[in-house]
Amino acid sequence: MNIILLGAPGSGKGTQAEKLVQNFNFEQLSTGDLFRKNISEKTQMGLEASKLISAGKLVPDEITNKMVEEYLKNGNKENIIFDGYPRTINQAKALKEILVLNNSKIDKVILLDVEEKILLERLVGRLICPKCKRSYHLKNRPPKKEGICDFDNSSLETRPDDKPEKIAIRLQSYLSDTSPLIDYYKTEKKLVKISVSNLTSEKVFEKIREALKL
Ligand code: ADP
Repeated sequence: MNIILLGAPGSGKGTQAEKLVQNFNFEQLSTGDLFRKNISEKTQMGLEASKLISAGKLVPDEITNKMVEEYLKNGNKENIIFDGYPRTINQAKALKEILVLNNSKIDKVILLDVEEKILLERLVGRLICPKCKRSYHLKNRPPKKEGICDFDNSSLETRPDDKPEKIAIRLQSYLSDTSPLIDYYKTEKKLVKISVSNLTSEKVFEKIREALKL
C-alpha cells in the first residue's frame, strides 16, 4: 500500500511517517529530507535547491519530480509513505504517471488538518536532529538534555526555513500551491481528512491506523 501524507508545514507529517515506518513495513520518502541530504553533500541539485529552500520557496516541479523518479527507479515501489510530495498538482500528475509505469498506484491520501495558529506555534521553536531527523520543540517536546538529541547525542539545529518570516512564505505556498491537492484527491476518492489540532501525536497515529485498516 502506498500512501501520501498531506498537510501544511508543521502538521506532523514527519512524526507520523516515522511512527508508520517503526510499526509497519513502510519506507518514508521525504522530498524535504532528500533535498537537505543533497544540500549537505553539496551536489549540483543541492546547490540549486538550497537558495529556494532557505527562502521558504518550493523547488521547481521538474527538479523535484526527477528526484522522486530516480529514487523510485532504484528501489521499492510498494509500501511507500510520500511525505511532502506531491506539493503541487503538476507533481501529483507526475507521481501518478511514474507509478503507473511501475504498475503501482497511490492507495490513500491522509490529510492532516491543523489550524493555522497552532501551525505557527509548532514551527517557531522546532529543533531538528541533523543525524536521525527526529524533531523536538523548545516548549512542547523538549529533549531530555537541552539542545541534544535523546537518541544519538547530536547537537540539535533550527532549520534555516523555520525562521518566522520564512514560515509565513511556506504557509502561503501551502495555501496557494498545495491545498488544491485536497480536491484533486477527493475527486480520486482517496482522501481521508483527520483534524489534528487538539490531538496528541499518539491519537493522530491511532486515527491513521483506523483509516488505513492497520
Ligand atoms: P515542511 O513540510 O516542514 O515545510 P519539508 O522538509 O517537507 O518541510 O520541506 C522543506 C522544503 O523543501 C520546502 O519548504 C521546499 O522548499 C522544499 N521541498 C520539499 N518537498 C518539496 C516538493 N515536493 N516540491 C517542491 N519543493 C519541496
